[in-house]
Amino acid sequence: MTSQALRIVVWGENVHEHTNPQVAAIYPRGMHTVIADGLRALLPAAQVSTATLQEAEHGLSESRLAETDVLTWWGHKAHGNVSDAVVDRVQRRVHEGMGLIVLHSGHYSKIFKRLMGTTCSLTWREAGERERLWVCNPGHPIAQGLGTYFELPHEEMYGEPFAVPPPDEQVFISWFEGGEVFRSGNGYTRGNGKIFYFRPGHETYPTYFDANVRRVIANAAEWARPPVARWMDSCPNAKNSPEKIAAKV
Ligand code: ZN
Repeated sequence: MTSQALRIVVWGENVHEHTNPQVAAIYPRGMHTVIADGLRALLPAAQVSTATLQEAEHGLSESRLAETDVLTWWGHKAHGNVSDAVVDRVQRRVHEGMGLIVLHSGHYSKIFKRLMGTTCSLTWREAGERERLWVCNPGHPIAQGLGTYFELPHEEMYGEPFAVPPPDEQVFISWFEGGEVFRSGNGYTRGNGKIFYFRPGHETYPTYFDANVRRVIANAAEWARPPVARWMDSCPNAKNSPEKIAAKV
């Protein structure tokens, strides 16, 4: 079976890059462009584009989302500025089958909290600590191409308790130099859509240039591809039972 080219939109809040010189030095063209570059390098057949908060409708119009298979989401400072109409729209598309990859501080985005139905809070510390991401399930599609673990030399710490529903699929657990652990690669299904939360990606570190991080995001995009067969989005009245229909034939 030949599969269609995956259409990926990388959404970036695009605020820190313009307000924090440290972030601008690492990501002069924005974090979203670097995430998109990583996807293009690893998924050459995919159609990868970007969208930002500052664009009309945050770059996520009805028609654009209708032609999006997988959306990645990085936000932090401006979660509150994301329009509720766009959040409703993204949620509806996830229920229809669009994949959603939520990155790092996106844990507190309106769309992730909406889809999880919980506060999505966690503990954190910004101390440039080493993070070791352990692979929980080597057979999982998102873990392909990785070793038993990989490390990032400097990251922000996120720790438990992470107030999300128990993941349907646990792909990574992180350990930090300070001793904390965190469920850092979590798969969910909502309606027809797959959701993957992936923890690394604090804006003051070059995390989205890391080869393993790029591999995970690319694997997750493939994993989150919309299903071919879908649940119906209605409650039709089944007036005739299958037996009755069969008896008439
Ligand atoms: Zn952060």
